[in-house]
Amino acid sequence: MSTGQRTRPFEMYETRVESIDNLSPRNVNVRFQLPQGKEKYFKAGQFVQIFVPREGDKPRRTAYSIASPPQLTDSFELCVTRVDGGVSSGYVHQLKKGDKVTVLGPLGRFTLPDNLPRDVVFIATGSGIAPFRSMVNDLLYKETDKNVYLLYGNRHDDDILYQKEWEKLASTEKNFKLYLTLSQPKNWTGPKGYVGSKIEEFIPNLKEKDYYICGLSTMIDSVKDKLRELEVPDSQIHFEKYD
Ligand SMILES: Cc1cc2nc3c(=O)[nH]c(=O)nc-3n(C[C@H](O)[C@H](O)[C@H](O)COP(=O)(O)OP(=O)(O)OC[C@H]3O[C@@H](n4cnc5c(N)ncnc54)[C@H](O)[C@@H]3O)c2cc1C
Repeated sequence: MSTGQRTRPFEMYETRVESIDNLSPRNVNVRFQLPQGKEKYFKAGQFVQIFVPREGDKPRRTAYSIASPPQLTDSFELCVTRVDGGVSSGYVHQLKKGDKVTVLGPLGRFTLPDNLPRDVVFIATGSGIAPFRSMVNDLLYKETDKNVYLLYGNRHDDDILYQKEWEKLASTEKNFKLYLTLSQPKNWTGPKGYVGSKIEEFIPNLKEKDYYICGLSTMIDSVKDKLRELEVPDSQIHFEKYD
């Protein structure tokens, strides 16, 4: 463990799969162990590229956001959605404990400033939650004095990733506010609808917040349009597109 303050330029790592767990029908959480004595320093929100082997060709490099907090330095976790016919996500989903995987990182600038100027709102759908699992845990570990909102949308009841973790944090951390919403619920009695339609309902003083959005581009574009309609300045809107 470290305070997660240090960062280094990107590097190549030979990792081993330590565990692979189903989070939902289409998502796994994979923990990769670094070689003994190696540590990786990164900022919450950064991603790695994994090398997907291809017969007779160079490996395919695919980006995945780091889903574990920077305080964990001898291993890291990814949260990967299985895309139908997807080469890289298919590769990750067939990994087994002990498999070797080459990884390059950390990369990317989708990170938080060292001192938050105002409250933050994280908005995600599906595996877009990955960088926010790292950021939220990092902020709470550092005992931020700002409010941290998470507005997380999914389709079905069993699609919510890390649900128990989020609910536990929301019950123990008074400045962490959790809002889950489902677009096609079955037995769910909580909020229903898309994330974009929930901003006005859940976020107080919404022009005074910084927004971080992550997931697929259709969701991000519609949330950005909504925030502009609500007169949130562009300088307070940050995003990472997966496609
Ligand atoms: C900076 C960055 C970080 C990323 N982090 C993550 C992450 O943490 N977890 C993750 O699952 N993916 C993440 N992605 C997406 C990932 O890089 C791949 O694009 C994705 O796994 C599909 O690759 P594939 O080879 O399986 O599919 P391909 O054969 O390349 O097919 C791509 C298709 O998959 C769609 N797609 C891409 N991502 C998703 C998704 N998450 N859910 C549903 N459809 C998708 C695209 O719209 C496109 O139509 C990230 C992308 C970027 C650029």
